[in-house]
Amino acid sequence: MITVTHYANQNIGVFGLGKAGEATVAALLAGGAHVYIADDDLKSIEKCKTAMAGKGIIHTQPFADWPWAQMKALVLSPGVPLTHPKPHAIVDAAYKANCPVIGDIELLFNACPKARYVAITGTNGKSTTTTLIGHILKSAGLKVEVGGNLGTAALSLNPLGADGIYVLELSSYQLDLIKTTRFNVAAFLNVTPDHLDRHGSMEGYIAAKKHIFERQTKDDTAVIAVDDEYTKSISQWAASGARKVVEVSSQQVLASGVYAKEGIIYDKSTIMPNALSPMPLSAIATLTGRHNWQNAIVAYATCRACGVSAEVIYKAMQSFAGLRHRLQLAATIGNVRFINDSKATNADATANALAPYHEIYWIAGGKPKAGGIATLGEYFPHVIHAFLIGAAEDEFAKTLEGKVPYTRCGTLKEAVKQSADMAFEQGKKNAVVLLSPACASFDQFKSFEERGDIFCQLVSDVEADHSGGRNKHAI
Ligand code: ADP
Repeated sequence: MITVTHYANQNIGVFGLGKAGEATVAALLAGGAHVYIADDDLKSIEKCKTAMAGKGIIHTQPFADWPWAQMKALVLSPGVPLTHPKPHAIVDAAYKANCPVIGDIELLFNACPKARYVAITGTNGKSTTTTLIGHILKSAGLKVEVGGNLGTAALSLNPLGADGIYVLELSSYQLDLIKTTRFNVAAFLNVTPDHLDRHGSMEGYIAAKKHIFERQTKDDTAVIAVDDEYTKSISQWAASGARKVVEVSSQQVLASGVYAKEGIIYDKSTIMPNALSPMPLSAIATLTGRHNWQNAIVAYATCRACGVSAEVIYKAMQSFAGLRHRLQLAATIGNVRFINDSKATNADATANALAPYHEIYWIAGGKPKAGGIATLGEYFPHVIHAFLIGAAEDEFAKTLEGKVPYTRCGTLKEAVKQSADMAFEQGKKNAVVLLSPACASFDQFKSFEERGDIFCQLVSDVEADHSGGRNKHAI
């Protein structure tokens, strides 16, 4: 855990008492601050107060009664509206009192100013890329702490000195709350319209994301995947400053930069000497698909900018375990690969899963999103048979009618059974049973994680039956 001493004996407010908020309160109390806590949910105030008992001076009166003239800062949870649809009342109160509104990343930066900072943002692929970068830097023998928007909250990480690197996944909400943090390497993956409710417009969303590059100097690096119009213009803007810019692309050959063509990484960047190129990704199951090539080249360029050799990076990529529920290989049984892509809760994410495979037994359905799977038509020829589940069954059946054979299975259990039976029976060489639902999970499960875990369990049952079956034949 981090100790934030910057506010010792001073008043500071923390609003939003989730996992990151509680970690913030603990870090401030450990450093001797007088902490005022608040949340719209009164129960979490009590919970936090109990958890922090005996750890320092904590105040719980409503924020209207805080001594605003003496508050040094308000630490806001990134989940709380700063600007759109309208600022939360506590933000108005802070601004009225000229009290700075910051996030937990600022506190981390204040507490551990000697460490190096790597930040990753983008609409999609943040968690995969952050985890991959952490894995590579650790494999290179560096002292690394990985967290932020992913996994461990920033202030629950371990303190690092000059020999350490924080690798932080940052959402646009977190970037909005950064004032002084400077990232030695900042990586930008992609932009698609998302979260506009919170940023008001695409311009607002991009402006928030651009904070990641602010304050960078000539010693710092911006890694930008220039695969969409927004990131292209961000890259032009970034190049107008002193920072070094490394462009990467999973779509086009770059004269100078890093690109992936047909799943092979080529390094033509001039900033980082001694490139090892080409580097095929095809044998790395956890980096399958164009979207993962983008994640891989962003991770590659970021780690190069941290001083890791291309050889070490490429070797580390080969042992990348991937993230649970994102094109996760659950098992290979006989010839058939079973893949858990439960995180794919919309058609865009499922497109990434259908694109790289060509003999798919596709389990889809759940609580449908607007538009359903109508946009996935170009990948229907990759699907041998669809197994439909959940509330989306009727709608998906209509879309597939006459294009892809399908079976209404109702439940995931039935879908795994039927898809496995068919895949084993047909014996195709590149058969893949793929759970990529293109739907939310809430009609039948608590979360996409639960859905994915149950899929993996069902697959291990199939595996046990299968090996049981084989043994019986052998006897
Ligand atoms: P995030 O943390 O930004 O939500 P994840 O790494 O958790 O991203 O990936 C979530 C889903 O987004 C994955 O299941 C995959 O389908 C899709 N995805 C991953 N990387 C990319 C990318 N670079 N571009 C587009 N989609 C991606």
